[in-house]
Amino acid sequence: MGSKKLVIEAKSVVTPFEELRDIIVEVEGRYISQVVPAQSFHSQGGSRIAADIVAPGFIDLQVNGAGGVDASQVAELGLDTVSTTLARFGVTGFLPTVITAPQRELVQSLNALGRALEKPLDGAAALGIHLEGPFINPVKRGAHPVNGVKIPKVEYFQKLQDAANGRIVYLTLAPELPGSLDLIKYARGVLPIVSMGHSDATYEQALEAMRAGCDFATHVFNAMRDFHHREPGLVGIILTETRMRASVIADGTHVHPAVVEMLLKVKEPTRAVLATDCISAAGMPDGEHRFGTLTVFVKNGVCHDQEGRLAGSTLTMDLAVRNCLSWTHLARTAIFRMASYNAAEALGVADRKGTVTKGADADLVLLNETMKVEKTIVAGQIVYSRN
Ligand code: ZN
Repeated sequence: MGSKKLVIEAKSVVTPFEELRDIIVEVEGRYISQVVPAQSFHSQGGSRIAADIVAPGFIDLQVNGAGGVDASQVAELGLDTVSTTLARFGVTGFLPTVITAPQRELVQSLNALGRALEKPLDGAAALGIHLEGPFINPVKRGAHPVNGVKIPKVEYFQKLQDAANGRIVYLTLAPELPGSLDLIKYARGVLPIVSMGHSDATYEQALEAMRAGCDFATHVFNAMRDFHHREPGLVGIILTETRMRASVIADGTHVHPAVVEMLLKVKEPTRAVLATDCISAAGMPDGEHRFGTLTVFVKNGVCHDQEGRLAGSTLTMDLAVRNCLSWTHLARTAIFRMASYNAAEALGVADRKGTVTKGADADLVLLNETMKVEKTIVAGQIVYSRN
């Protein structure tokens, strides 16, 4: 007996390297078994569904929480609520993200996440952990609590990686701190993504870090030195160095829509990554919500801490895609690529994720013409259906 088959009749498939019309995407078990023109497809059973648009499932590299659960609460509440909430918005893969916290709390959070990642989730799959603190610059800490901020040290990172059962795949740090270059060199040998962020780095400091292997930047423009024409800082490196990948929070609050358009005119969209930085409030009503060890206040979907600083977002990946479609000059292919393939490539999993091609994992988002998510498929299973 063959494995379960799903036949998707798509008006349009964004692969995301090109957009194809009238296509059948056939899923067998966990994988995409065929992507062929509808007229050359000959039915051999399986259940059939129709879709306006089929694209690679969204991959979000920065998820602090969702559906009322923060990444630091996984020991008590598990990760399934986060995973199923994200699936409602077309996400098939994500990195639970932990921010700065005192050592005890940080180790506990990483421990719980490391364990949670051992078993499959009900919605979007967790592809590893993003450690966003504690090696950040206190002057650019944003909402990260100052309590717990540490000078970069390989030994402390190793301790945290051990606590996480080796599942940290993305480390954000401030490259200008003493010890950073040693940690960058070490981490680059063991992690797919070592990223500059929460940083006051000058142009020269960022250049040195990039040359040491730190070729990613976390939420460009946010929590980094402001661009200045005589000292362009980390932003100057991001905008001018092709090697640099950068994530951007396209919610219209963290970065002005015109600046998102500017970024994508200057930076190749092949090197830009949409990420949400969403917190537990994502997919939830306004009110008080948890962010790491903090309580934050959400009004009209915008999150602030007690001091009024922006504290994560309630952005969802489907909205980030719609925002970029309305704000920028880019084609759908480029925007879907920024929401899927580019992240998969940075993670080193682009051979099986982030594309709609034969043999790839069947991680798909099905959307209607207004770019609303109709269905989300993870490893061949429909994990979300709007109706
Ligand atoms: Zn941040």
